[in-house]
Amino acid sequence: MSSQPHTVLPWVVRRTRLPLLSLRCVDCRSESATTGEGRFRVNANGKLLDVWLLVRCVSCDRTGKLTVHERAPVGSFDPAELDGYHANDPELVASRLLDPLLARRNRFTLDWTGAWRLDTPSARLEEAWPVRVEVVFEDPVPVRPERLIAQGLGLSRAEVLRRIKCDIPLRRPTSTGFAFTVMTGD
Ligand SMILES: [Zn+2]
Repeated sequence: MSSQPHTVLPWVVRRTRLPLLSLRCVDCRSESATTGEGRFRVNANGKLLDVWLLVRCVSCDRTGKLTVHERAPVGSFDPAELDGYHANDPELVASRLLDPLLARRNRFTLDWTGAWRLDTPSARLEEAWPVRVEVVFEDPVPVRPERLIAQGLGLSRAEVLRRIKCDIPLRRPTSTGFAFTVMTGD
């Protein structure tokens, strides 16, 4: 009996927009903030720069600032990066917002609800068992493999537990690539 998978399918997890931030508002106590379109504020103090990413409370619109750089020497910046801060470059906004260091430093977590999707190729699974699936993360969205697989294959969670062979724990959230094998349903 061969257990070599016949088919390898690529799945991709990617964001559809910027995630919200779970961050308590000092005014209204709401716990949800957004970067909106994404704006930086750069403040020069002599040869030192402060860079903030602006956020807004989704309930009361109060504006807050996340520290990106604090009193950093101008010369320590890559000129392209500095241009990006001045131009509110969307890619730079995304990369700073998704940087775990920024979250730790400013004490927020990302709320990915409704901000990502799973892209799967449309393949007829019946033809070649077992099937190997390789999941790639274009963005660091934390997902529970069990739920992602159930969604991607249209299976119940019980079926996932019965038919999936996976090297990582199915219930622990991950945002790094992994692979699994789908066994036939018979
Ligand atoms: Zn508020």
